[in-house]
Amino acid sequence: MPPESLAGLAAIAGLIGLCIGSFLNVVIHRLPKMMEQEWQAQCAELRGETTSTAEEPLSLAKPRSRCPHCGHQITAIENIPLISYLLILRGKCSGCGARISPRYPIVEAFTGLASAYVAWHFGPTIQAAGALLLVWALIALAAIDLDTQLLPDAITLPLLWLGLALNLWSAYADLPSAVVGAMLGYLALWSVFWLFKLATGKEGMGYGDFKLLAALGAWLGWQMLPAIILLSSVVGAIVGITLIVAARHGRSVPIPFGPYLAAAGGIALFWGAPITQAYLGMVG
Ligand SMILES: [Zn+2]
Repeated sequence: MPPESLAGLAAIAGLIGLCIGSFLNVVIHRLPKMMEQEWQAQCAELRGETTSTAEEPLSLAKPRSRCPHCGHQITAIENIPLISYLLILRGKCSGCGARISPRYPIVEAFTGLASAYVAWHFGPTIQAAGALLLVWALIALAAIDLDTQLLPDAITLPLLWLGLALNLWSAYADLPSAVVGAMLGYLALWSVFWLFKLATGKEGMGYGDFKLLAALGAWLGWQMLPAIILLSSVVGAIVGITLIVAARHGRSVPIPFGPYLAAAGGIALFWGAPITQAYLGMVG
């Protein structure tokens, strides 16, 4: 594909990415709340209580987004990715003037840039379409884990079987490598979890982390797992030490592992092959 067509494709993917980023903000904000509602309903059912119908169940589509301070309903013009935040609202609610978190435009901009890069990297291929879904899911997972220390099954499990399905046609790895990747990805962190628990009596990570690494193994093949674990540990150590040195994070405050796994998965998606070759070269 000539470079100017590829640039055009990347620009279109970037614009779509901006809109998806806006949707991811809704997912990041609502999915944990929806899960909590569901758990509470299940607990009430177990206790034999009739579930209250007063509260309408939350979903990704309903109700429309509101300002958490004054309840002002976000209008269509206030919902344009980036533009609304930067030019129309200038970071404040039009109803009450409360500050809107810069995380919303940051998620939008990052999703836009990452989507443009996927199109640039993979060109007009089925790999690009799949990689977009993977990157979007990783962004949502990283942000939800940062907020709530949860990696919802509603995202990790479909991600796992979607990776296996795409590799039926060897989109990113051959099928045996993908199946082994899913199994080893889960077992690797599961083993670390139990060793750590037996040694220290503490739980260092959650089952969501195992499922996320299983999903990354299903997408990229078992050969990428060492690089992903290494990258996430290195990035995690650097960020963790920086936070402790900056004394903004007590050592006892749990730092979620999911965002580092997600970041490492993204890096491995684009540059996994050269990274793996480089360290295999160093080994022998
Ligand atoms: Zn408001």
